[in-house]
This record gives sequence, C-alpha cells and structure tokens, in this order.
Amino acid sequence: MSGRIVKIALDSPLDTEFDYRWTPTANEPQPQVGQLALVPFGRREVIGVVTAIGDASVYDATKLRDVIALRAQLPPMPPEWVALCRFAADYYQRPVGEVMLPCLPKGLRTATTVALDRALKNRAAATQPSKPPKKSRAKRASGDEAAYATLPTAALQPDAGIEAEVPVSAAAPTLNPDQQAAVDAVTASEGFAAHLLFGVTGSGKTEVYLHTAQAVIERERAKGNAAQVLILVPEINLTPQLEGSVKARFPHRQVVTLHSQLAEGERLRHWLAAHYGDAAIVLGTRLSVLAAMPSLKLIIVDEEHDPSYKQQEGLRYSARDLAVWRARQLNIPVVLGSATPSVESWQHASTGRYRRLDLTQRAAAHAQLPRVGLIDMEINKAPDGLSPPLVAALRARLERGEQSLLFLNRRGYAPVMHCDACGWISNCRRCTAFMVLHKPERRLRCHHCSLELRIPQSCPTCGNVDLQPLGRGTQRVEEHLQALFPAARVLRIDADSTRRKGSAQAAFDAVHRGDVDILLGTQMVAKGHDFQRLTLVGVINPDTALFSQDYRAGERLFAQLMQVAGRAGRAAVKHDGEENRPPAEVLVQTRYPQHPLYRALLTHDYPRFAQATLEERRSASLPPFVFQALLRAEARQLQQALDFLQAARDLMPCEGIMINDPVPMTVTRVAGVERAQLLVESSSRAQLQAFLKPWVAALRERKSRLRWSLEVDPIDI
Ligand SMILES: [Zn+2]
Ligand SMILES: [Zn+2]
Repeated sequence: MSGRIVKIALDSPLDTEFDYRWTPTANEPQPQVGQLALVPFGRREVIGVVTAIGDASVYDATKLRDVIALRAQLPPMPPEWVALCRFAADYYQRPVGEVMLPCLPKGLRTATTVALDRALKNRAAATQPSKPPKKSRAKRASGDEAAYATLPTAALQPDAGIEAEVPVSAAAPTLNPDQQAAVDAVTASEGFAAHLLFGVTGSGKTEVYLHTAQAVIERERAKGNAAQVLILVPEINLTPQLEGSVKARFPHRQVVTLHSQLAEGERLRHWLAAHYGDAAIVLGTRLSVLAAMPSLKLIIVDEEHDPSYKQQEGLRYSARDLAVWRARQLNIPVVLGSATPSVESWQHASTGRYRRLDLTQRAAAHAQLPRVGLIDMEINKAPDGLSPPLVAALRARLERGEQSLLFLNRRGYAPVMHCDACGWISNCRRCTAFMVLHKPERRLRCHHCSLELRIPQSCPTCGNVDLQPLGRGTQRVEEHLQALFPAARVLRIDADSTRRKGSAQAAFDAVHRGDVDILLGTQMVAKGHDFQRLTLVGVINPDTALFSQDYRAGERLFAQLMQVAGRAGRAAVKHDGEENRPPAEVLVQTRYPQHPLYRALLTHDYPRFAQATLEERRSASLPPFVFQALLRAEARQLQQALDFLQAARDLMPCEGIMINDPVPMTVTRVAGVERAQLLVESSSRAQLQAFLKPWVAALRERKSRLRWSLEVDPIDI
C-alpha cells in the first residue's frame, strides 16, 4: 500500500491544517485522528495533532513532506477533545492548531520523547499492581473511542483493591437541607444540565461540589463506568486549599492539579493522569478546561464570575463558557458556583436556561453574615487614607487580639509622583500611563510596560528636590499603619510582596497561624481564604470603579466587595456558652454612600444588584442583551491603527450587524505602540458568528503587517 495523506494542525497563526505524507513502515500502526505527530515545518521539526486521514490532497502529493514520527506510545486525543478544540477555534476565530497545541504540556510538544517516555514508564510502574487486562489495554492503544467510554477507572487505579473496601465518604459532614437539595438536583439530572449554585461565602458551596463529585463517581461505578470530574478554580493561589479538601475526601482516588505554575515534569505527569483516565478528579485553572479526560462525567466551575476565567491573549477564550459547551457536548451536568454570579449567568438562570440552586444559610452553625457599614468620606476626612471610624475599629480589634483585613486594590506606594513647583508628573515615556512610585524598592515602575527608573532626586524639569507622591497604594497605607500602631504585626500581600514562588502561600499561612494582626492587600486577599480570627474588613477607596468607562466595572466591584466581606463572617461563629458576640464588621470608605451599589451591599442583596444591573444593560443594549466582538489593532502611529480598523469596517456588507467607529483604546500607547479598537455588535449570536468568519478570513487575506487581534465576547472594552 502506498502512502496516505495526513492533515495536521500545528501551532501556527496560518488558519489551515497542513497536509503531510505518511508512508507505512513495518510494524508501525496506522495514524489516527487525535494522534500527536512530529513533522517538519519550515526548517524546524514540530509536534502537531492529526485531524484527518485520507488518500488525496489538493496539493501536489509529490511535494508534500513526510511525517517524521507518530507518537504511537500515547493514546490519541479523544474525539470529544478534538471536537471541543474545533468548536473553540470556530467560535473564537482562531486556527484550530492554536487551540490544540498550547494546551498540551511542553513534554509532549518537543521533538524528543525523553520526557514522555520517562513519564509513561513511571506511570506503568505505578499502575503495575492492578494492570488492566490485556484486552482493554490493546483496545485503548487502538484509540477506539468506545474504549474510552467503557474502560473502568478502577482498573487503572494503583490501589483499586483497597478502594473497594473503604467508604469514601468517611469524612464527609452532613449537609444542610439547601446543600442536600443542590446535590440531589445535580445528581438527578439526566444528561446535560447547567446549574447555577448561588450561595454567599460560607454557605458551603465546596461541600456541595465534593458531595456531588462523590455521588457522580459512585453512581457511574455502580453502572460499571469510569468517571472523572473536572473542578475549575479561578486562581492558582486557591488550588492548594481546595486540593487539600479534595484529597482528604477522596483518599483512595487520584486527584491531580493542572495549572501554569507546575514544574514541567509534574504538569506532564498530571496531564497524563487526566488523559489516561487515572485521575478521578482534575483540579485546575482555566487552561484545564482543555484537558483531555476520557471519562468526564461532571464539570464544576467555582467562582464562575471571576474574570480570570477569561484568557486575555492568544486564544481569548472563556473557560466558563467552554465548560458549559463541553458539558452539553458530553451530555453531562455542569455546576457554576458563586456568591456573586456574573450577570450573564444570572440572566440565564432567570430565563430557565440554567437552573438556579440557592444556598440561603451559612453552613457553619450560628454563623452570621458580617454587618456592613459605610463611612462617608465627605464627612470623615482622612489625609492618610484611613478615616477615624476605621482607625477606631482597627484599634478595637488589636485590643481584643482579633485580626483585621484592609482591602485596597492598588499596589505600589503612590500611583503618581509630581512636582508642585512646575507641575511635572511621572508619565511613562512609553505608555499613556503614570509611573507608579514603589518606595521600598526605590523605583518608579510602569505597570503597563514594566519600565523601571530610579526615583528622581529632583524634578527632571525644574530641579525642585521636593517631589510629592499623589494618591496612595498598599505600600503607603502599610507605612501609615506601622506609624499608627507600632506594636501591631502588619502584613502586606500584593503582587509586589509575593514575587517569589511560594511566598504568597507562606504569607497566607502566617495569617492563618495568627502571626498577623492587620492584613493589607489587593484583590489577592479577597479570594478564597477563610481567616478564622478575622472580625474586621476595611475597604479603602473603592469609588473609582463607580465611574469607570467599562460597563462591567460596577459588577466587578460588587463581586469584589462581597468576596472580601466574606473573608470576615466566619470568625463570628458563636461558640456554645458565649454571650452575644457581635457579628464581624465590614467598613467601606466611600464618598458616595447613597450609590445603589453600596445600598445593595449593605443588605448583602446580590439579587437586587443583579436585577438592577440587568435592567440597565437591557436599556443600554449591552451584554448579555447584545453579543460583541472587538477588533484591536496596534501600530507605531495611531493613525495607521485607525486606518486599518476603518478599512476593516468597510470590508464587508454587514446585515444585522452594527459596527462602531474605530476609537483609540483607553490606555492608547503601551510600550511605544499605539492601540485602537473597533466594536462589532449584534442582537443575535448566530448572526455575529456568521459575520465574523468571512470577515476574519478577509482580514487575514489582506496580509497587513500591522498586528491585530479579534476577541469574541470581550470583557474589557
Ligand atoms: Zn518641577
Ligand atoms: Zn509604560
């Protein structure tokens, strides 16, 4: 038999799959769709994914190059994974290879198989005691898709023998009626169903996740099926905590994490455990939504509203949205959990597309929601950023030996430096932005282009030696706290204080141990961690978000404030015999205490806030009532970028589509590059998609040398 033609997706911006020749050699198995293959590409050798196999090519077959090697030692990527990548490529208008390849661990994308072979050998050694019967192993190697569906995980588990005897649920606490109802609703759903699990911080969403995962795994096992569960979390920093809970609950199942901070070898091992079905539970950040999991039966997305589910470069996908699509495709349930769901998800729940499951009570007995207070900053002047009522509240906590948390979403010492004498201001010379003063590091830093300068001794324009910081960031508040409370142990947690790997975890551990009196930080401190001794949360200067051009800023602020408020409530558990212990307190410093956002915050009333936000969005024709795509262009001259966008605007007739005028981006220049954007809208997602495909193809056709990118469902406009 002569050679065959193999189509291969490569990590290349060219929107095409590439034809190669495959010539059979003795004993080598046939190529299969989903298989990884090493091929020549230009002068390099690269890994690609086989997407089709045929006998003909539209190109001259004699000019095609040969596949160098198939990665036959690895089962092909399952068909559902190939379909998921195809969907993501189509929907987000990227080449399919740019979806498939970047989500694979590096060890699979190299020309050598050293790392892969070593990992496979280790895996084989680890699974030795319960080697699956020859038959199923052969079946798996053949890539038969049915094999994926029927292969029991138990057969692949190192300690399958023990597992059968040990009740997995040994440590599981009893659920309250809300939690039980939620678990029942998810596990009762046959096939695809999207559930929006709505519950305030502390209402026990994690328990619902764990019980649901357990119920689904046990149900499938009873039917003789393998089962895998994918749990997505928004932040790497949150994985250790959840990983601990999951491993404690499932001591006899393999639990692996997938995120970008894993060492390469570890990531490859974890990825293989997911790919082979060894891992019953995969816990990961957004990229793990693209992990191959042959027996996936349930997907959970924790903090589904979190912006970090949106990838902001390359394939600009939403892991939350892909999770829902994947669940639908596999006909399995998906659970989206949040105390402050995205208004899109809230809207889906109100139209019945998603089923809403409410957790109305805090899970811990007697736990109360924190009391929210607003400090009117028109009345309470605070030259150093901390108003007298907030300082008094901090002092009371210090006296009682309790912890406080101050939330200020701005790192650095001061956002700007300036000269009173001549009006000089610390502009970044490469960006439309200020250079931020970082006092401990003695640097001015641009947070957009990372340019760093030493703090000038005197004004670069007039020589004045008395340069002033304007505004305040976490470093400045830290300095002020130390002056106010010299005996207090103050800890700052932000991107600057946690640059070293592991330092964020160490800092959080110190808070948990009680080695910290006042914790101060950016959004990093708002998420996930439950601080048992924390009874006060202070919010400094949240008002800027109220007047942002970004229509989502209010939604984000509300979510952040609810989340940071949620850090406090847990310590307010009344212990038996204790008398009227006051609930934890949240104090928000604002100049706009009458703003509806803060009024809703006072009563923890997310539904009211979401409803009001949705009404605003509807009347302003904003998402989720319209669908958007954003074309961005970058050039040395702003006019070039605008011209490109204007030409793109006029490229095609656009029925049912509204294309706005090209405009400079808010931060127009970054690192010397001018940036502009063009917003495309439609009231119909299908219509928008139908327009985008030929439009993007036509844009590619023009081969402009200018850099451009398209984002579907943009979250930053
Ligand atoms: Zn000056
Ligand atoms: Zn800059």
